[in-house]
Amino acid sequence: MKQTYSFDDVLLVPQKSDINSRGEIDLSRNIGKHKFTLPIISSPMDTVTEVDMTLSMLKAGGLGIIHRYNTAKEQVSMVCDIREALEAENNSSASSIAAAIGTSDDFESRSIALFGAGARILCVDVAHGHHTLVERALKTLRDLFGESVTIIAGNVATAEGYIDLSEWGADAVRIGIGGGSICSTRIQTGHGVPTFQSVLCCKYADGASIIADGGIKTAGDIVKALAAGADFAMLGSMLAGTDQSPGDTFTRTDGKRYKVYRGMASLEAQVAWRGQARSLEGISTTIPYKGEVSRILSNLSRNMRSGLSYTGAKNITELQSKCDFIIQTAAGRTESGTHILASHV
Ligand code: IMP
Repeated sequence: MKQTYSFDDVLLVPQKSDINSRGEIDLSRNIGKHKFTLPIISSPMDTVTEVDMTLSMLKAGGLGIIHRYNTAKEQVSMVCDIREALEAENNSSASSIAAAIGTSDDFESRSIALFGAGARILCVDVAHGHHTLVERALKTLRDLFGESVTIIAGNVATAEGYIDLSEWGADAVRIGIGGGSICSTRIQTGHGVPTFQSVLCCKYADGASIIADGGIKTAGDIVKALAAGADFAMLGSMLAGTDQSPGDTFTRTDGKRYKVYRGMASLEAQVAWRGQARSLEGISTTIPYKGEVSRILSNLSRNMRSGLSYTGAKNITELQSKCDFIIQTAAGRTESGTHILASHV
């Protein structure tokens, strides 16, 4: 049986650096012909990405993918709102509006409507992406739109899945099964692979851009994911609970403000979306309110730049070739966290 590793099992060894300031570091990455200066994507979830989050992500140099848990009409109207808002500011990222789709029911007519409204990146968003239904969907999208759409697809957990989706026409593949903070797939089905390990397995395979997705909880995890081979990190919980994530804030008896964050396969999300729950592979929870997402994104950008400079890397390609991973013991993990309260004085 293979041993696999998660983000918390590994560390990057600091190396000689000649980088004088974080400003010298270039974090940019491409998906197809779209260039992003911040390699972060907000998850297509109904408590993460709608109009406000997409606008903030694009303005910060990243990408937001509008979720698909709504009617085609509602999703199209979000695309229109984003395009109007960006065009009014003469913002060229209007050409990078992204929306998620499924593989069944209205997927073809929804894709055509989204494209008509101005979405130029479509994300085939299913739980088990290494599937013939995804192969068929990718071929249909290429037949419909040729190269005028950029396609993201997933999720997969293996190099075989990554190579297949790349060959079926995806420009970027979401890597990670069962690692999401609100995900219960591994508990309910016994299946999954630690996201860090899945990304590492794809690092030397030839294929599309790699999006590490699920279980990323710190800037350090993002740096580890990029070093392991990812071009982008997709974030759910780290961006949920902000002013730009959908949903209201509410105050608890502790006087603190909270927002809902839920898996798209949770009971609550499924009932809200299709009136009934089928298989449950996620949970719904509340998380502390965090304020403006732009503040979170600037902190992440600064910390990621520091991360690259510890490896002596001026960009992500250099990080991937120079990085030196080590595995930490349980004692190492304790030392890696802030641990003053555990000290014996
Ligand atoms: P997080 O960043 O760890 O919170 O994980 C977010 C990721 O979890 C998303 O981008 C999806 O890939 C995945 N996800 C979203 N909803 C569910 C669910 O209900 N079950 C399993 N995985 C989910």
